[in-house]
Amino acid sequence: MSSAAENGDAAPGKQSEEKTYKKTASSAIKGAIQLGIGYTVGNLTSKPDRDVLMQDFYVVESVFLPSEGSNLTPAHHYPDFRFKTYAPLAFRYFRELFGIKPDDYLYSICSEPLIELSNPGASGSLFFVTSDDEFIIKTVQHKEAEFLQKLLPGYYMNLNQNPRTLLPKFYGLYCMQSGGINIRIVVMNNVLPRSMRMHFTYDLKGSTYKRRASRKEREKSNPTFKDLDFLQDMHEGLYFDTETYNALMKTLQRDCRVLESFKIMDYSLLLGIHILDHSLKEKEEENSQNVPDAKRSGMQKVLYSTAMESIQGPGKSGDGIITENLDTMGGIPAKSHKGEKLLLFMGIIDILQSYRLMKKLEHSWKALVYDGDTVSVHRPSFYADRFLKFMNSRVFKKIQ
Ligand code: ATP
Repeated sequence: MSSAAENGDAAPGKQSEEKTYKKTASSAIKGAIQLGIGYTVGNLTSKPDRDVLMQDFYVVESVFLPSEGSNLTPAHHYPDFRFKTYAPLAFRYFRELFGIKPDDYLYSICSEPLIELSNPGASGSLFFVTSDDEFIIKTVQHKEAEFLQKLLPGYYMNLNQNPRTLLPKFYGLYCMQSGGINIRIVVMNNVLPRSMRMHFTYDLKGSTYKRRASRKEREKSNPTFKDLDFLQDMHEGLYFDTETYNALMKTLQRDCRVLESFKIMDYSLLLGIHILDHSLKEKEEENSQNVPDAKRSGMQKVLYSTAMESIQGPGKSGDGIITENLDTMGGIPAKSHKGEKLLLFMGIIDILQSYRLMKKLEHSWKALVYDGDTVSVHRPSFYADRFLKFMNSRVFKKIQ
């Protein structure tokens, strides 16, 4: 098991409702992220564009941001901190690969307050989403950050060869240091736009062992359900036209092979289901209640890396017979077994913590026996095959 210190202590602070992570208030973390990224991205623009070299992956840039300000950095209300940027040139290149210009990256992260997601994961990580919905910022453990650094060159070689992928896109890795505490964060693509209401959200691993959402999770207004819940609620699966189905399965297959090649396991497919018929009803209600335009769902545009582009390449919006005249927000059109029109949002998440699973496994023989597998070098391929089989046979289906 990982220690409490490593996991952080994402719990309400004693004085107020504000969460803390490694004894640092989340408002201070948000502030430091915005100040640090604001500085580092600005600083990068002065560096000329050039090809990424292998050594760029190992560069760590560091800047000190004292509260009173310095000739390089502005004054701020948080304790003094140091901000480290990992592989700045390499990440700038990856952002460009996905069409993210430096100004847009800065604007998304720094111009409006970051929004904290309430208790999304079990790991104790804090999650923030940028107010334009584009990026998710997650605190990660030391080992996860180290793993991402090692993974980067090979991982992005794959993304470069094949931009049609549902793998997570990492846009930055940073560390803030203050009072002897290190807080590491990754910036990645947001799979579920908040402005599109998800009527159901699932975190699917292709396993049935203890894969039911907890009672606490179910009590939330937007719970994330798990594999057994999916089998119960959506036992007939989700239906696609042939072209979309083939594109989706091919993407998942390629992605799983990449993860297997890095011996990565325990990842999930995060799946958001938007039911169009429900949303039409909700819109009618909003209209009748005179909800101001900006507050209506579906107003925000997703700019980068939509689900549809992830499986079909740029330029595909998901418009078609299922969604004529509707803004799909890059969702993948599908149907439920009852014939309801759906938009699906999805991405593979949580690929950095395989080592945690290996640790758990040392203690959890039950899971091993249940899975019918043993600790071996074959385990990543077993995980990938089981994941794919589940997606292929239980979750996604072709309209006959
Ligand atoms: P666990 O230990 O339970 O796996 P974790 O803290 O490592 O949790 P994740 O599994 O990465 O967290 O994510 C937890 C939840 O956060 C997801 O179920 C999802 O609701 C949300 N989330 C994570 N990554 C993303 C993303 N890229 N886009 C949108 N939502 C996300």
